[in-house]
Amino acid sequence: DDIGPNDIEKLQVLGHGNGGTVYQVRHKRTAAIYALKVVHSDSDPTNRRQIRREMDILRRTDSPYVVQCHGFFEKPSGDVAIVLEYMDLGTLDTLLKQNGTFSESLLAAVARQVLSGLSYLHAHKIIHRDIKPSNLLVNRQMDVKIGDFGVSKVMCRTLDACNSYVGTCAYMSPERFDPERYGGNYDGYAADIWSLGLTLLELYMGHFPFLPSGQRPDWATLMCAICFGDPPSLPESASEEFRGFVECCLKKESSERWTAAQLLTHPFLCQ
Ligand code: ADP
Ligand code: MG
Repeated sequence: DDIGPNDIEKLQVLGHGNGGTVYQVRHKRTAAIYALKVVHSDSDPTNRRQIRREMDILRRTDSPYVVQCHGFFEKPSGDVAIVLEYMDLGTLDTLLKQNGTFSESLLAAVARQVLSGLSYLHAHKIIHRDIKPSNLLVNRQMDVKIGDFGVSKVMCRTLDACNSYVGTCAYMSPERFDPERYGGNYDGYAADIWSLGLTLLELYMGHFPFLPSGQRPDWATLMCAICFGDPPSLPESASEEFRGFVECCLKKESSERWTAAQLLTHPFLCQ
């Protein structure tokens, strides 16, 4: 049954994002815990558009690898809210900051779950467009689920251009900056695979790839590195399977990049 605004009480703030707040809430009758993502009535039109887009996508999805939604509501005040399954360990980003870098076997488990989620989404013509550690949610069972569909897109036509600058620039793939050069058979889905490749590198190395120093450079420098430099790769310390896997995610030419379904058969995930 859908949960309404009068069924729950707020416990604490879990996170702040672009124009919205995520609260931990308790269902009064069952005492079950949920996360509540709220965009307030006074927040700007972009944020309100994003939460509506997110509602629209969560309505269509039902996968163990995508954060589950238990209801939506709009208050008379104008606040728009989504009731989400509560992920008690937060995001991969918070885990990295708390516990340090991830082992290969943990990353194989992360990759398998995120790819299962992406393969589900892509089969349903949904492109996430903002895959990164802070949008991947985790719980105590080490279930990893894809969250934050604020800038996602549902493809309605096959040749829909979707190289608009949405998402977090740093994780954007070469063909989204330069579709002429890297977009061979551009369909948009491959951009999520690129972002997953960068995410795995970051969780293994402890800092954002492209930047040995760990500092974020300005936007132009980063865009040049993504478009004109070699794709980042794992250090020698990583296993051959893992290095090969990341290479398949980070092909600059989007048509050469493996799909989610192909990557699920890669030896790194099958050992
Ligand atoms: P934004 O669009 O503002 O980035 P997110 O959906 O990414 O919104 O949520 C912001 C933060 O709130 C996340 O990084 C995470 O820390 C927390 N959060 C979001 N959803 C959940 C959830 N289902 N369970 C636990 N924490 C969550
Ligand atoms: Mg987010």
